[in-house]
Amino acid sequence: DAAREALERLVVDVPDFPEPGVVFKDITPLLADHAGLSAVVEAIADAGRDADGATVVDKVVGMEARGFILAAPVALALGAGFVPVRKAGKLPRGAHAVSYALEYGEATLELHHDAVAPGERVLLVDDVLATGGTVRAARELVEACGATPVGVAVLLELGFLAGRDAVGDLPIHSIAVI
Ligand code: 5GP
Repeated sequence: DAAREALERLVVDVPDFPEPGVVFKDITPLLADHAGLSAVVEAIADAGRDADGATVVDKVVGMEARGFILAAPVALALGAGFVPVRKAGKLPRGAHAVSYALEYGEATLELHHDAVAPGERVLLVDDVLATGGTVRAARELVEACGATPVGVAVLLELGFLAGRDAVGDLPIHSIAVI
């Protein structure tokens, strides 16, 4: 379909970035292409709709930084609000925090206490699912607010890193798995 074709054509493999041995998926050429961007935003938005096309989420959460770029237009397409999950120290008001292990060291993500309300239904959006640590932390933050994550939507899933297993029992919608 159009979204998958756009990914195949416009995402660029960058060897040895950000460190030797890693092949980084650069999505900026995809973002720069109007037809490609439209196709992937529509495909991600479908993860927030039921079979009849009705929106089933109240909020779309995007993870800093590339998740923001996709989650905001997805929220508009769904008629839902956009909520940022940010790296430590960026949010100005009281926030929940979750830390998780990286290959070297640790990262912390934060979410305002009142960013999602108890009982709200939330779609989590990011560009790439790698080890799953980012999505898992975002899921825990949403749950700390008393809201319900109903699914995860990403452009690309790096299947060999088994991020899906780290996320737990949440539906994961990937436009492409590589
Ligand atoms: P994880 O926490 O699943 O290991 O890593 C996912 C996070 O790292 C996402 O927020 C994503 O933006 C970023 N990431 C990891 N690998 C890549 C990559 O190859 N390309 C891009 N664009 N982002 C990546």
